[in-house]
Amino acid sequence: MVHYADCFEDVIVRQEFPAQTANADALNVSQPALRLPSTVRRRTLWGALVLLVAALLAMLIWLAGIYETSQVQARVERDAAEAVGDIRAAFTRNVQGLQVLQYADPTPNSWVIDAGSFLSEHREILRLEWRDSALRLQAHVDTPFRAPAFDRQGRSEVQSEVAVACANARRFSGPAYASSYFVPMADGLGQEVMEFCLPLQNGSKLTGYLIASYALRDVLERSLTRPVTRNYQISFTEGDGTRLAVFGSSRRGSRIFTARQLMDLPGTTLVLRMDSWRAAPDLFPNVLTALVTLVSIALVSVLGLLGEDMRRRFKAEHDLADVLAFRKAMEDSLVTGLRARDLQGRTTYVNPAFCQMVGFSTEELLEHSASAPYWPPEFGEEYRHRELVRHAGNVPPREGYESVFMRKDGSRFPVLIFEAPLINAQGVQTGWMSALLDVSEQRRLEELSRAGLERLQATARLATVGEMASLLSHELNQPLAVISGYAAGSLNLLRADPQGAGEIGTELSLAVQRIAEQAERAGKVIKSVHDFVRRRDHVREVVAPQALLDDILPLVHLQARQLSVRVQTEVEPGTPFALCDRTMVEQVLLNLARNGMQAMDTPQIMERSLLIRVRGLKANGTSKRWVEFSVADLGAGIAPEVQQQLFKPFFTTKAEGMGLGLSLCRTVVEQHGDALEFSANLPHGTVFTFTLPAADVA
Ligand code: ADP
Repeated sequence: MVHYADCFEDVIVRQEFPAQTANADALNVSQPALRLPSTVRRRTLWGALVLLVAALLAMLIWLAGIYETSQVQARVERDAAEAVGDIRAAFTRNVQGLQVLQYADPTPNSWVIDAGSFLSEHREILRLEWRDSALRLQAHVDTPFRAPAFDRQGRSEVQSEVAVACANARRFSGPAYASSYFVPMADGLGQEVMEFCLPLQNGSKLTGYLIASYALRDVLERSLTRPVTRNYQISFTEGDGTRLAVFGSSRRGSRIFTARQLMDLPGTTLVLRMDSWRAAPDLFPNVLTALVTLVSIALVSVLGLLGEDMRRRFKAEHDLADVLAFRKAMEDSLVTGLRARDLQGRTTYVNPAFCQMVGFSTEELLEHSASAPYWPPEFGEEYRHRELVRHAGNVPPREGYESVFMRKDGSRFPVLIFEAPLINAQGVQTGWMSALLDVSEQRRLEELSRAGLERLQATARLATVGEMASLLSHELNQPLAVISGYAAGSLNLLRADPQGAGEIGTELSLAVQRIAEQAERAGKVIKSVHDFVRRRDHVREVVAPQALLDDILPLVHLQARQLSVRVQTEVEPGTPFALCDRTMVEQVLLNLARNGMQAMDTPQIMERSLLIRVRGLKANGTSKRWVEFSVADLGAGIAPEVQQQLFKPFFTTKAEGMGLGLSLCRTVVEQHGDALEFSANLPHGTVFTFTLPAADVA
């Protein structure tokens, strides 16, 4: 037991039994206990989450890209506006420079020199002409940087443009420009040229014109700063987008940001187009995109970690479910009842073995509050007190203690209880854990062995009595033989002188004959007892039932007269002969008849009648026949407590009784193959019945 208690404590007590698990079906490991979300549902949720996050990230990156693009476009627009300003400023400076040429009333020759040096500083101007008010050429100078542009195409060809420019100049009373035109060159190429006309005035009088032919490409090259020309392809275009002059080369295949700016000049309007050959924003063009990307990476990493964490959690849950299933299977297979109670005495867990033991369902056992339903009401107070002692901190004995529980049907049974404190994961005691063993079978076996021991002791006493009886029978044989001898001698003497005796003699010889008979009978009884005690082979003889009755009736009548009992005998016609130990069976009949008569020996019994019946019986299914004897009295019957001990040796309710009669009768009847039975006689009294095997001869 101690060993068992040790195991129990080691294995179970360190477990925690939360109240919920008591609803074992919640964790049912057949196994509803741990219901994990379905894999499909979980995967769908995860898929949706990943999709949403991916969409969010894509949108963020797209927005960042759009923002960056708009930034680049804005910068191009800004640069284009600045470029227009630069070009306009260059034109204005040129106008001032050209005005200086006419400042000191030059002669054509001196003008040519000044104009030549001016042109050497202004590469964008192909030719300078000084014309009179009728547009007749006074002097002209060509740029020193290239072959004269108008050699191939005569200057007269472009007279109209010059005229338009000067007409504009006249109209504006100031410098004016004409629309550009294409001038083919000697090398097969050509260039776009724009005429500029500066009216020359003397006071309010128009004295002539200064014509400058601008090469538009060179205007771009000379007017713009280096960073602009390096980063952009800049061109003058017509309204429909046709390029007139281009400077800078574009990078093919990359995205081009384009900005167009109108450049209003007196007399004409130019469109400046700037193409940025910077590629579209890179993947990480700025801090914003980088940040978004970083956050995205972090988010994806977190998602990954989360996924890993979930995977681990599901694995842990799965393992836990396995462990719980194993534990439940273990608890279910236990024959030991398990019960957990909290510190308030409420049952928080029971295993199936315990429910089976007490016959209550789990719900019924967990519902109760003050006293458990399996406490017998008569012990309720004592058990409550026991619990109070326990809760006061007194540890129950390790070897367990015994108690009595009540099943649902009200029957009581003994249990052996081992209790140990229930410690949770934090090392705090949360209640008590009990293992319960139903020890009723054990107690029954103990009772059986005790009864066996008692029987053994009784048998020993019987053996002693048997020895005494044997001794007595041996000792009594001698005097009985002498009595018998003297009786026979007396009888012989009486018979030898029949006259001498007279009537008294006849009576006397009858009495002596009876003495001889009874002495002989006593001898037989003693011999039978002797044989019985010595367990010799019993002599079985064929006896007519009536003969058995005839033998005992004289003695029965003797006692019946004393007790005022009427004795009746009934032998059913056709009753077979019995095969039996005649003397012992007579002893049995005598005993039963005497007991029956003594049972009626009370003043309350008015009708005192004893009936001895004999009848033949047929055994079921066989041809074997039996002879049934019954002895019925009209006494008070046998009380239930007496019935239990009726056949016990030395049990008697009589002051002078030995208590051996019925025990002996049962032994004799059992030796003949049957059992001695008794039942109530109606309206009152008792009937003892036994059977003897019938002899083959009728
Ligand atoms: P004894 O006659 O010496 O008491 P027995 O073994 O013959 O011993 O009987 C045991 C007891 O059984 C008696 O004391 C008596 O109380 C009870 N008993 C036996 N036969 C009867 C009967 N016919 N009616 C009532 N009680 C009986």
